[in-house]
Amino acid sequence: AAGGTGVGHSGGVDTGAAATGAPQTGDEEPITIGFSMDTLLEERWLKDRDLFRAAGEALGAKVVIMAANGDDAKQISQAETMIADGVDILVVAPHNAEATAAIVKKAHSAGVKVLSYDRLVKNADVDLYVSFDNEMVGELQARAITKLVPKGKYVYIGGADTDNNAHLFKAGVFNVLQPLIDRGDITVVYDQWSKDWTPANALVNMRQALAANGDRIDAVIAANDATAGSVVQALAEAGLAGKIPVAGQDADLAAAQRIVAGTQTMTVYKPIKLLADTAAELAMRLARGETVQTDKKLNNGKTEVPSVLLTPIAVDLSNLEDTIIADGFHSRADVYKNAP
Ligand code: BGC
Repeated sequence: AAGGTGVGHSGGVDTGAAATGAPQTGDEEPITIGFSMDTLLEERWLKDRDLFRAAGEALGAKVVIMAANGDDAKQISQAETMIADGVDILVVAPHNAEATAAIVKKAHSAGVKVLSYDRLVKNADVDLYVSFDNEMVGELQARAITKLVPKGKYVYIGGADTDNNAHLFKAGVFNVLQPLIDRGDITVVYDQWSKDWTPANALVNMRQALAANGDRIDAVIAANDATAGSVVQALAEAGLAGKIPVAGQDADLAAAQRIVAGTQTMTVYKPIKLLADTAAELAMRLARGETVQTDKKLNNGKTEVPSVLLTPIAVDLSNLEDTIIADGFHSRADVYKNAP
């Protein structure tokens, strides 16, 4: 990865030669980055918040962060506040992919560009998208589980229908499962979204999945580790925890501990620092009026959004040490805290 930004490693980025912004001189006002977040309820978003703030400040920016607790109207009004306060660039991690299009419109009418962070804002003229390859996340999950369970009854516990990522994760899973379904080796016996990504909704789903199949299922793919936690809880209620492979995503500490305990098979690690650093650096370039060119574009229903997609990493017991522990994402002591 060139220049330590990591950007080169799965989605190359060039600053357009046609940069229009003048370089900052010492006596200019610092650039202010507004970061509009959906939620801080999950472990990963706390990391995003802290790492993004640190990355922006290290680049000399002032960083203003607001989180909306899953409330669409609140996310929009917080973004309006930041625009009114004069932020130079808005970074948005949307709760609702469609509703937040309003933020992009409002930002643009004030001359403020919008970088879509981790989740894509749909049906809006988003200036740049920085995320992981989210379809690959689902593919990694399904590849790991189909290796262990090449035939049988699968349960898919999805994320929030309102989050574009949830659709990409699911598409990735089915890219891998479909040929096996067509061959008659695999049947998907349950497949539901979990509203707002909440563990409570995932728990209801997983209990239903078990009840509807008389507990006879062979594998579970959950869209993230928070929902995987509920899957394992429901499996434990049925005396099946540790007996049925479960995939999750995020490399949450609790998930790493479940991998050590043997109740979760794998997770997908997304190095959040790389995401935060890349997004902060590119946000600065957009704020200075530079053109950012990317290798990839993703269609969001309205436009082809220039996209930087970082590479997710499959993690199981065999590489916990070399990935999340080596990176300092979690300490070894924490990961093995409950180990016998
Ligand atoms: C993120 C996941 C996260 C989920 C729930 C998704 O958009 O990519 O990392 O677990 O939202 O917050």
